Amino acid sequence: MYLLECFIEHPVRTIDQTFTYYSEEPVSSGVRVQVDFNGRKVTGFVDSVQETDGVPEGIKPVLSVLDQESLITEELHALARYMKDITVSTTIACYQAMLPAKIKPRGEQKKVVMETWALPCVQEVALTPRQLEAFLFVQKNQPLLYSRLRRHFPSQAKVLADKGAVILEQRERQAALPVFREIHEELTLTEDQKKAMEAIHRKPEGVFLLHGMTGSGKTEIYLHLAREALQEGKQVLILVPEIALTPQMIERVRSRFGSALAIYHSGLNSQEKYEQYRMVRMGKASIVVGTRSAVFLPFRSLGLIVMDEEQDSSYKQDSQPAYHCRDIAIWRAAYHHCRIILGSATPSLESYARAIRNVYTLVELSHRVNRQMPDISIVSLKKAMRSGDSYIITKELEEKMRAHLEAHKQVILLLNRRGFHTSMRCTSCAQPLKCRHCDITLSYHRSSHQLVCHTCGYTTRFPKACPSCGSVEGFSAFGFGTERLEMEVKNRFEGVKVLRMDADTVSAKNGHEKILGQFGRHEADVLVGTQMIAKGLDYPDVTLVGILNGDEGLQRTDYLSCEMTFDLLMQAAGRAGRSESAGEVVLQVFDPDHYAVRDAAAQDYRSFFHQEMSYRHAASQPPYTFLIALTVSSLKQDDAERTALRCMETLKGDFRKLGVIQLPKRRDRFYARILLKGKNLEEMRAAVRNMFTEEPSLSRKDIRIDVSPMNLE
Ligand code: ADP
Ligand code: ZN
Ligand code: ZN
Repeated sequence: MYLLECFIEHPVRTIDQTFTYYSEEPVSSGVRVQVDFNGRKVTGFVDSVQETDGVPEGIKPVLSVLDQESLITEELHALARYMKDITVSTTIACYQAMLPAKIKPRGEQKKVVMETWALPCVQEVALTPRQLEAFLFVQKNQPLLYSRLRRHFPSQAKVLADKGAVILEQRERQAALPVFREIHEELTLTEDQKKAMEAIHRKPEGVFLLHGMTGSGKTEIYLHLAREALQEGKQVLILVPEIALTPQMIERVRSRFGSALAIYHSGLNSQEKYEQYRMVRMGKASIVVGTRSAVFLPFRSLGLIVMDEEQDSSYKQDSQPAYHCRDIAIWRAAYHHCRIILGSATPSLESYARAIRNVYTLVELSHRVNRQMPDISIVSLKKAMRSGDSYIITKELEEKMRAHLEAHKQVILLLNRRGFHTSMRCTSCAQPLKCRHCDITLSYHRSSHQLVCHTCGYTTRFPKACPSCGSVEGFSAFGFGTERLEMEVKNRFEGVKVLRMDADTVSAKNGHEKILGQFGRHEADVLVGTQMIAKGLDYPDVTLVGILNGDEGLQRTDYLSCEMTFDLLMQAAGRAGRSESAGEVVLQVFDPDHYAVRDAAAQDYRSFFHQEMSYRHAASQPPYTFLIALTVSSLKQDDAERTALRCMETLKGDFRKLGVIQLPKRRDRFYARILLKGKNLEEMRAAVRNMFTEEPSLSRKDIRIDVSPMNLE
């Protein structure tokens, strides 16, 4: 007989304890079981097992054992406990975040997507000349997607299949990556890179902050360190903000390390994730490139963790448990006694502050490998508007674009807004049209002639009358997005090919890869896009980058707005002139004197760091203090606010309580937030835990806890 201590799925957050069940068969810890809890059949997670002679009174048997083997290692067990503490959540919630869907306690599985492929058949069939042409096309391009055949030969495709000249085959859709130029050999390190390597070699473990502008050769250092770890028989984890936006990094890793590489990200279906998970567990995958959730893979023996663009907000999980990937990665590196390299051109203030206090080891690369700095100019949009110039593409930017395009170079234009117009206001009362499910302004999309809510996806046509005042005078447009910009470029530059990359154009599977592939092959001259084009792209023909409304982010009210704006400007500017030809960058901004703009133009991280740190100090903002956000949501507005007030009253300790702040309604839910700000994060966490024990009714409310939040909009 075996007694099992199980964590169970339970909606009440204060229940973070194990419950005892018994099993007649041996069960290993880390597997899922089904148990009866108060008459409900729920999933449990075996935390520990004890052999026993008899079963004490009142202990129930497990109903079934769901997994044959545990994929949770001792290390991950310990990690779940750590994660629960730092995020103030429950153990079971941490396991759920850690495991891929197939073995998640709450098993929800995505459907496998199939696609049809056309394959040539060897048997002889009589064909017309045009059909033969189609057949040869299949033969030449095999394996060929049937949809592509239909596009090229609309009237022949089906006939070929009917005649049996081609066979149609259903295959599971696989994520395909475009092929970029490959760098097979290891490069000889530059003097700068050698010095950085020496500094890293001095310590066999610990946290390193590798700071160097885009193009300074950080990736090359990651790859050299990875090679060393692999040679010692260890595994390597390389974390990136988003897989689709880093095809070139993946290609570089793949061309060096080939089949030892596994790629892990949210776009994989659950079967693929499960397979990768097992590959890592069995030690078959020795190097993994992955996004946030890859930090939970069951490595046997890690020799190196790299976290590229460590400041990126996609490393922070928004939903519960709201963990930061960096904390988890640092914990795991310590567990394995290996190095973790945080790499960035614009480190988070928090990490850089730690590095200059020697909590992390600071390693800096001070030059670009090719020693070329882009030539960055700032254009004031206020001035442009006063002189009657366009505020979309100013004269200066237009002239530069002409020069670069005439020289057969490529141009990237970044505008962090999608859609055509960003708002439509009533001509009579000036109220903007808003989403009926969210308290958010609708954007106008011209291609679909619809109003779209960028928060919930709700779309609608123009109303006949203004919902606010009833006027039928119509609406006027304000602001512009990428769709409008694309049209503007096409109108002004005749014959120039333009590609647009934003959430609207990449929604199709592999949309990113298609667009980036086309641009990489120079099939278009201009790439227009939102912040998703600011990262990681390395195209030798891009010599001009224009950043439109570059300081729009400064209008956000939260304390991270300057840091995020600076980061975006620096990243975008880094896209120009990555090869032999020096690049040019034009920053179109409303406030050319703002230090975030000036320092980005000067590519001066340190100046920005010191300036921003002094503001943070003056305002007692992180990293000088810690924050915990508690966000209550409810279908009823007064309920959300009342609950938040109750939280305010119950929370006690040496910290400030800010709020209650009402957040905009989203997806028909109302939100109320309070913010704790203090010097002692442990005390603040304890206060939040105590709040639920002191006021048990709060455990049943929808309260999201976010320790060190990155999104305070
Ligand atoms: P980062 O990661 O800092 O942006 P990369 O490692 O991508 O920098 O290097 C920038 C460019 O310089 C890349 O095209 C890369 O191939 C090239 N490069 C990096 N290191 C070397 C080197 N030691 N010798 C020659 N070229 C290099
Ligand atoms: Zn009106
Ligand atoms: Zn909405």
